Amino acid sequence: MRLVLVGAGHAHLHLLAQAGALRAAGLDVTLIAPAGFHYSGLATGVLSGALPSAAARIDVAALAASRHVQHLQTTVEGVDLSARIVRLARGADLPFDLVSFNVGSTVQDPMGLAGAAEVWPAKPLSRLFDLKARLEAELKREGPPPRVVVAGSGQTGFEIAAAIAGLCARHGQQADVTIVSRTTPHWGPAAALASLRRRLAARGIVVAIGEVVGREAGHCRLADGHSLACDMLVLAGGLVAPPLISGLGLPTDDAGRLRVTPALHARDDPAVFAAGDCAVIEASPRPPVGVFGVRAAPILAANLMARAQGGALRAYEPQRRWLSIMDLGDGTGLALRGRLWWRGRAALWLKRRLDLGFVAAARGLRPGA
Ligand SMILES: Cc1cc2nc3c(=O)[nH]c(=O)nc-3n(C[C@H](O)[C@H](O)[C@H](O)COP(=O)(O)OP(=O)(O)OC[C@H]3O[C@@H](n4cnc5c(N)ncnc54)[C@H](O)[C@@H]3O)c2cc1C
Repeated sequence: MRLVLVGAGHAHLHLLAQAGALRAAGLDVTLIAPAGFHYSGLATGVLSGALPSAAARIDVAALAASRHVQHLQTTVEGVDLSARIVRLARGADLPFDLVSFNVGSTVQDPMGLAGAAEVWPAKPLSRLFDLKARLEAELKREGPPPRVVVAGSGQTGFEIAAAIAGLCARHGQQADVTIVSRTTPHWGPAAALASLRRRLAARGIVVAIGEVVGREAGHCRLADGHSLACDMLVLAGGLVAPPLISGLGLPTDDAGRLRVTPALHARDDPAVFAAGDCAVIEASPRPPVGVFGVRAAPILAANLMARAQGGALRAYEPQRRWLSIMDLGDGTGLALRGRLWWRGRAALWLKRRLDLGFVAAARGLRPGA
C-alpha cells in the first residue's frame, strides 16, 4: 500500500523513526514536506535571543534519508480524494492508498493583514526568526525601540511579547509592546495572569482591550475607531488549520481542523488520517498544542500498520490536563497545569530540558548525529 505523509510535524517525525516497521507492515512510505522543521517550543527562545535559530531546527531531509524514506522536498497544494492523488506545489501528482496529514496550523487573519509591510504572523515560525532580525536592526540604531503591537492575547501572544521584551533587554532597552486582546485574557488561573501582567508591565508590556482591524505606517487601527502607535504588528490571534484541510471536502470544525475519530482517520474516509493541530477528535476536542501530536503519534503508526494488514485500530484518548510552560524571555518561565501554576527560573529550566530533549531525540534518529 502506498502511504503518503503530508507535512513533517511532531507525529510524522515519529513515523520516520518507525519507517522500518511501516515497511515491514507492507507500506511504501513517501513524505512530502519542506527540508527543515522548526520546533515551536524553542521559537520564543530564539526570538528573545537566548538561543540560536539552529537550536530549534530539525533536518527532516537528513532524517528521511537515514530511514530510507522517499522525501519530496515540497508542499502539497491540494488533494483529489476521489482520484486518490495529492497535488504537489512543484506541479506533479502523487497517487496514494493511505494519506496522513500532520501539517500544523496557521495564524487566524480575518482582516487579511498578513501581507502588509511590518506585519509579522506568528506562524510559520520562520517569520518570527525574520522578525528577530528586523527588531535587532532597529535596536542597534540610536533612538527609542520600535513600538510593537501583538494582536492576540492567548499564551502565544503573551509569550511573543515577553520574548520581544527579552530581546530589547539584551540590547539595553526597555520594550514598548502592547498586547491587544478582544476580552480580558482568561486562559490561565486569575492569580497567574495577574502576576504575569504585573511582571510584564515592569518590562514595558501593557494589555489593551480591542481588536486590530488595519495597519498603516506608524499606527494600527482598532475596531472601535481608536488607533495605537505601531511600528510592527505581530499577528498571534489564534491558530487554525491550513486551507489544505478544508479543501479536502471532509467535515471540519470551526478552526478548519479535520474531524477525526479516536482512531485518527476521517469519519467519512477511512483512508485519510490526521494528527496534531490540523485534526480534532470529535469526541474529545483539545486546543492546538504540540503535546497532542506527540502523544497521538504511536497510535497513528499502529493504525496505519493495522490498515495495511487488516488488523483492529486503536483509539487515542487525549489527556484532559497537560503541562504547558511559557518562556518569559527573562530567564524565567510560567508553568501551568489545570489550575496549578508556578513561575520562576526552575520552570524555564524544565521547559528547556523538555524541549531540547525533544529536538535531540528527533535528531538522534539519525545515525551518527
Ligand atoms: C510562537 C509559538 C510558540 C509555541 N509554543 C508552544 C510550546 O511551547 N508548546 C506547545 O506544545 N505548543 C506550542 N505552540 C503550538 C505549537 O506550535 C503547535 O501546537 C504544534 O507545532 C503543532 O504541531 P504539529 O505537529 O501539528 O504541526 P507543526 O509542528 O506545525 O508541523 C507541521 C509541518 O507541516 C509542514 N507543512 C505545512 N503545510 C504543508 C503542506 N501543505 N505540505 C507539506 N508540508 C506542510 C510545515 O512545514 C511543518 O513543518 C506554539 C505556537 C507558536 C506560534
